Amino acid sequence: MNNMHAAQLVDPYGRKFPYLRLSLTDVCNFSCNYCLPNGYQCNEQKIFLSITEISNIAHAFAELGTTKIRLTGGEPTLRKDFVECLNVIHQTDGIEQIALTTNGYKLTENVDQWVKSGLTHLNISVDTLDARLFKNLTGHNRLSKILGGIDRALSLPLKKVKLNAVLLKNVNSQQFDNYTEMLRDRPMSIRFIELMQTGDNYNYFQKYHINAQVLKNYLFVNGWSEKSREGSSGPAIEYIHPEYLGSYGVIAPYDKDFCDNCNRLRVSSVGEFHLCLFGDQGFSIRDLAQSKSQKEALKDRLKQLLTHKRKQHFLHENDTGVRANLSTIGG
Ligand code: SAM
Repeated sequence: MNNMHAAQLVDPYGRKFPYLRLSLTDVCNFSCNYCLPNGYQCNEQKIFLSITEISNIAHAFAELGTTKIRLTGGEPTLRKDFVECLNVIHQTDGIEQIALTTNGYKLTENVDQWVKSGLTHLNISVDTLDARLFKNLTGHNRLSKILGGIDRALSLPLKKVKLNAVLLKNVNSQQFDNYTEMLRDRPMSIRFIELMQTGDNYNYFQKYHINAQVLKNYLFVNGWSEKSREGSSGPAIEYIHPEYLGSYGVIAPYDKDFCDNCNRLRVSSVGEFHLCLFGDQGFSIRDLAQSKSQKEALKDRLKQLLTHKRKQHFLHENDTGVRANLSTIGG
């Protein structure tokens, strides 16, 4: 059924979108300096998507050719019904990959259950391998516990485990050797993403942003080579090395042509459809996610909205759109 519909989410530039990033909540228990330095602030009462709405949205996207859904946030695993969220997506025909981006806070205790409930791909954010810096950066003294959770995850039948790190000048830009050591015997990927400027982090960005070229240079000098790109690999460039089981990924959103490989769409935790991480305000689709009988109307609206997708973001021109930080939409 999915192949039949595979071409339906196509934008005016011919890009296809097999990948949906679905935010489950804005709430986060970490206070990462570049994202929520003062922690999550509950300024207005938001009602996050219900299980029924999540299921209806997943079905509509799946029938339009989406095969991968990533759960993100905020911190998605803080939802009390997180396992139920996994279950309903797992029960959606056509969704072959269920991915999660998490800060790892609940990883050790829960990852077995998540995998049993259908999780196939796991990304854990670890922006530094120095325990003291980790505490300063996130507000939690929890690095070794999270690293233990990653090893637990690697022992389970997940298709991919990735460690995400935001590249930060003089924080982790001096820790590449430590990260590399993790890859020697672990079949995982470490993905560095260049720090992005958002509405809220101007000063932080000025101080800590560093171009991903420093990492590319490090990899080149140390014998890592660029892997040829697979069809739907998205914007990351992958690097491999014959002496290491794991791989590196580099995401450089300020690079020219970064958006050419865009393969993802986003739905926020309150049911707004976003065409770009840095686009303008989202378009509400929640009214059409209330019952299964609205599925065709929801699919029509998604296709119609996709005609507005822009060719690229304008981050390189310092246009961050309306995004105050990424906790509202999930990075
Ligand atoms: N709470 C989860 C976590 O910590 O991974 C998921 C939400 S978090 C917003 C998703 C990803 O966005 C994380 O890997 C985070 O480091 C990244 N992120 C947040 N703000 C960013 C920024 N300004 N630039 C680059 N990446 C950012």
